[in-house]
Amino acid sequence: EDPLSVPKAGAPSTGKPAVTPDSVINLDHGDPTMFEEFWRGTGAAAEIVIPGWQTMSYFSDVGNVCWFLEPGLDQEVRRVHRLVGNAAVDGYHVVVGTGSTQLFMAALYALSPPAGAGAGAAPMSVVSTAPYYSSYPAVTDFLRSGLFRWAGDASSFRGDTYIELVCSPNNPDGAIREAVLSSAGSGVAVHDLAYYWPQYTAITKRADHDVMLFTVSKSTGHAGTRIGWALVKDRDVARKMAKFIELNTIGVSKDSQLRAAKVLRAVSDAYELPEAGDARRRRLFDYGRRKMVERWRMLRGAAAASGIFSLSEETSALCNFTKEMAVTNPAFAWLRCDREDVEDCAGFLRAHRILTRSGDQFGADPRYVRVSMLDRDDAYDIFVKRLSSLR
Ligand code: PMP
Repeated sequence: EDPLSVPKAGAPSTGKPAVTPDSVINLDHGDPTMFEEFWRGTGAAAEIVIPGWQTMSYFSDVGNVCWFLEPGLDQEVRRVHRLVGNAAVDGYHVVVGTGSTQLFMAALYALSPPAGAGAGAAPMSVVSTAPYYSSYPAVTDFLRSGLFRWAGDASSFRGDTYIELVCSPNNPDGAIREAVLSSAGSGVAVHDLAYYWPQYTAITKRADHDVMLFTVSKSTGHAGTRIGWALVKDRDVARKMAKFIELNTIGVSKDSQLRAAKVLRAVSDAYELPEAGDARRRRLFDYGRRKMVERWRMLRGAAAASGIFSLSEETSALCNFTKEMAVTNPAFAWLRCDREDVEDCAGFLRAHRILTRSGDQFGADPRYVRVSMLDRDDAYDIFVKRLSSLR
């Protein structure tokens, strides 16, 4: 025994445990482990090494509105949007966050009237069309802020002071959405474009909204890196969002930003530097699209075989990125149980050891459930097989 030996650093965790044919299959969260297979094949192109002395300062770019943004991440974010054509970047500020979840909170803070603005100013109403992402009400209200509060379904909202959350393609149902409230009064919209990438939908226009949220969680699958970014037109809004993050976490992990930059760079390089070896094999969006098309084909087959489930119709459009017609392959299935005696679809599936999220968490009918389409192959295969056998 060497008395001076120190324990090896622990091996990284692998997330959810491996599954066997009779395991409980947990498709409640949108954990994007499907993409692990792709990233196992990219080698050094998506690896980083950080020497002990690096990334120690709080600061990244002191001249920038977002002073904790790593310039390398700023560059790769703009580059991947120019490549894909899904969002405008010229004239926009990039604000980095610990996931787009933190940026969502930062946007609420930045877009609400400041505390003390007018005596007894009511909190800003935060709305989204149902079915809406279940985290919107939860995250809006958990600290019982005096600045803003959840006000429910946008389609039944009356008033002209509000923040409308527009998620497109929408979590949970994959719908392509636009704001339903006109911003005639002092209403503003925040566009959550987490799923506006070519593996999930046709890229039909370059989005150019005032505040747009993106995340590596859904674009590359690196949810554990916890990096999201906002594209913000107005400098003052960007400054307030950065202020929120300063007060909340004094910035965002530089180590994570460097990793996200490297991963995004590997994505763009595979398309823009085709001479680089086996670049074609390393095209993330091609891989993701193939995979999602196959999974949706399997799911529609299973729903048909079972006969008690329905899914939304498949739609397609011309994708400006691939220049081909593309069907929508949402990251979640919005599955309805059509059996008359089943009023709680999530409970019914739970009894068959399939965990999903009930429609009622999205402000919708509990005959619906949301099912993640982004789990590993083994879990997804068991899910589809089990679903097809339900009567
Ligand atoms: N917006 C939507 C619509 C999402 O589905 C998710 C993740 N489920 C997020 C935001 C949050 O992503 P992040 O991991 O970047 O916090």
